[in-house]
Amino acid sequence: QDGTETVENARILESARSAAERVANTDMLTGLPNRRHILAMLEEALRAARQDGAALAVAIFDIDHFKQINDNHGHAAGDAVIRRVGQRAKASLRDEDLVGRFGGEEFVCVLHGRSARSAELVAERVRKAVEADGRTGDVPGVTISIGLAVFAGEGSAEDLLQRADKALYLAKREGRNRSRMAA
Ligand code: GH3
Ligand code: MG
Ligand code: MG
Repeated sequence: QDGTETVENARILESARSAAERVANTDMLTGLPNRRHILAMLEEALRAARQDGAALAVAIFDIDHFKQINDNHGHAAGDAVIRRVGQRAKASLRDEDLVGRFGGEEFVCVLHGRSARSAELVAERVRKAVEADGRTGDVPGVTISIGLAVFAGEGSAEDLLQRADKALYLAKREGRNRSRMAA
């Protein structure tokens, strides 16, 4: 065994490792970060925010009346809508703002450095981008409802997500296609 072979083996191993990591962190339908990855990134953002006091907000959004899409147009059309909503959301965010698929037709954004006001503006941008997308063929356009919460110096990732989820619930109850900041 010469040195060249050892280096080559290490390179192959490293590329296999990073491919496996990519798969483990990626949602297969949308290509976005999956639940596991978005949670890991949120934990990391929280650590940084605790350390340097940087602002941090999260948004949870869920497609409005999505069951109707599945029921009226089939599961494959529903999948296409989920993919498209993910793309629209990602395209309307700056690179530092992350969006991932949390499960089903629900997404989470980690908004680095965003105060309440700034997070609300981002949420409105995402909401409008999805709304503006409109119908594709015979599948009608969809809207999303958004719940927001801002990290206030203490509390876990779970607390933050729970507050955002409650706000999402209120946004749904108030009529959907809107965003709501947690109290
Ligand atoms: P609401 O406005 O209250 O959110 O109403 P909704 O109809 O969107 O209700 P809900 O969010 O509870 O519906 C989620 C539905 O999404 C139920 C489930 O069948 C469907 N779903 C979950 N994951 C997938 C998926 O990966 N693909 C497709 N096509 N459908 C999915
Ligand atoms: Mg829904
Ligand atoms: Mg849902």
